[in-house]
Amino acid sequence: MDLKQYVTIVENWPKEGIRFKDITTLMDNGEAYRYATDQIVSYAQDKDIDLIVGPEARGFIIGCPVAYALGVGFAPVRKDGKLPRETVKVDYGLEYGKDVLTIHRDAIKPGQRVLITDDLLATGGTIEATIKLVEELGGIVAGIAFLIELTYLDGREKLDGYDVLTLMQY
Ligand code: IMP
Repeated sequence: MDLKQYVTIVENWPKEGIRFKDITTLMDNGEAYRYATDQIVSYAQDKDIDLIVGPEARGFIIGCPVAYALGVGFAPVRKDGKLPRETVKVDYGLEYGKDVLTIHRDAIKPGQRVLITDDLLATGGTIEATIKLVEELGGIVAGIAFLIELTYLDGREKLDGYDVLTLMQY
């Protein structure tokens, strides 16, 4: 299946000059969403995954059906102030300024094998911060899966040494 036909390119959004990749038109198509999920499940199958971790909000949309299919749990990575119990935090750079990502301190047990999921790899800042959280808790990043990679932003350079799957490249 050519998944790209289900991605809508939105010109000049959220600002002038950006060609936003809108995956909602992939998600709301049952066949395309299932196909994309199945691709990630096959990739993860032989990796002995214990847990899926994904950053809000689209990391949940990709990761949760994969967790269900593998019969493993899902732990959310969220912006600061959203998780109710003790968290670990990491600062990460945005285009303008900084933000903070958090995960519950007890979400991952040391030695657990984690698959990280998100919708899109751009500069890699979000996923680099997510990796830091997983590793700080003693998790092993066994794989990282995205629907889309924007190759011209070189996010892969931040993921050197990790096992990375992307289903579509632009
Ligand atoms: P990065 O941290 O620069 O790799 O940005 C990745 C994050 O930005 C992901 O969590 C995406 O959800 C979001 N993002 C950046 N560009 C796009 C886009 O064109 N479509 C959808 N999400 C995007």
